[in-house]
Amino acid sequence: MKYCSRCLYPANHPLHIIFDGQGVCSGCRVHEEKDTLDWAERFARLERLVAPYRSRSGRFHDCVVPVSGAGDSYFIVDVVRNRLRMNPLLVSYNQQYNTRTGIRNLAYLRTFFDCDYFQQTVSPASVKKVTRATLRLMGSMHWHCIAGGTAFPVQVATRFKIPLIIWGAHQGLEQVGMFSHLDEVEMSRRYRHEHDLMGYEAEDLLAADAGLSERDVAPYMYPHECDVAGAGVRGIYLGNYIRWDTKAQHEAMIDRYGYETAPQQRTFDAYNHVDNWHYAGVHDLIKYLKFGYSKVVDHVCREIRFGRLSREKGLGVVRAYQQVVPGDLPLLLEWLDMSEADFFACIDAHRDPAAWEKRDGVWVCRSELYAGGDTAGGVPPACGYADDSSRCGEQAETGGYTLMGRGWVDAWHRNP
Ligand SMILES: [Zn+2]
Repeated sequence: MKYCSRCLYPANHPLHIIFDGQGVCSGCRVHEEKDTLDWAERFARLERLVAPYRSRSGRFHDCVVPVSGAGDSYFIVDVVRNRLRMNPLLVSYNQQYNTRTGIRNLAYLRTFFDCDYFQQTVSPASVKKVTRATLRLMGSMHWHCIAGGTAFPVQVATRFKIPLIIWGAHQGLEQVGMFSHLDEVEMSRRYRHEHDLMGYEAEDLLAADAGLSERDVAPYMYPHECDVAGAGVRGIYLGNYIRWDTKAQHEAMIDRYGYETAPQQRTFDAYNHVDNWHYAGVHDLIKYLKFGYSKVVDHVCREIRFGRLSREKGLGVVRAYQQVVPGDLPLLLEWLDMSEADFFACIDAHRDPAAWEKRDGVWVCRSELYAGGDTAGGVPPACGYADDSSRCGEQAETGGYTLMGRGWVDAWHRNP
């Protein structure tokens, strides 16, 4: 396996990565723009871009902002509300694997920024059927989260004729440098199909699994091209106009609004996925079993590029976290009513042969760079991610999913 000589990304990154003559990956090269572009000028471009969408009377929503109980949502809404002076309609697809921390963050988000909010909660029975199908078809338990999270904002924008959707960073740009910031790439059906959805649209699931009905997959369908174009809907990424640094952004939100963090099982980033029981647990184990590397590699690569972690120390962090056995598999299997053997059979069918081979009936990882290390001495601390669990006393985690929260916080009802 070939690896970037600056960060730690492998050649089999599913978003596709390329290396230059010095062995430096495309993601590292595009990251250099963060220190060379004139970000004040880029933000001024953003202000000009959104100006025609701003409602003069303030009576109407002038953009749609997809949010969750984690992952830069506070920062995005802060920019939209306080710097761009817009009136967003916040939308979220209910991932159902919710932690109370995430529900709480979402409730405080809506309260602090005084925004209207629209959530889609699909029938849990349908979500389970879809998830069993996507585990079998593509080895993914997270497809419904991505498909719902990328379809629902566009459905809302199209239905209510709010033509601007504002997203945070573009993952393909941030991780593998698929685009330059200067390309000002916008949301597209094609990127969603090829990368977010791993090539499976909702319609493809319907055709591939006789157990699914149209009702089961309808929430994951992208609106028809004519409807999107007719409503003039476009989706822009703030990361093209703001020097995106998720760690610094979250820390500003912790200081300003008390954003709640939580330790994660298989990575040191305690900020980004605190709303989801499985993201840094079973979902991350699946990523490792398919591609031979896990989320901690994404986080270490990001920190190396920002100069907050050396490549050598980062490698130690990767090796330690990669060994961690997540404790949340029984929770998922109970919810899915699936046996452990069936679950691993689904994953094994989708192992990337570039990263895994079977020797004498045993799977062996070919990603030799990350091999070794153990967790006997505990996982090493990395980059000083802060612990802000000051609101945890309100309601501790229950050990299971929280499907819904109260949604608002005030002086009388502190428990969202
Ligand atoms: Zn790199």
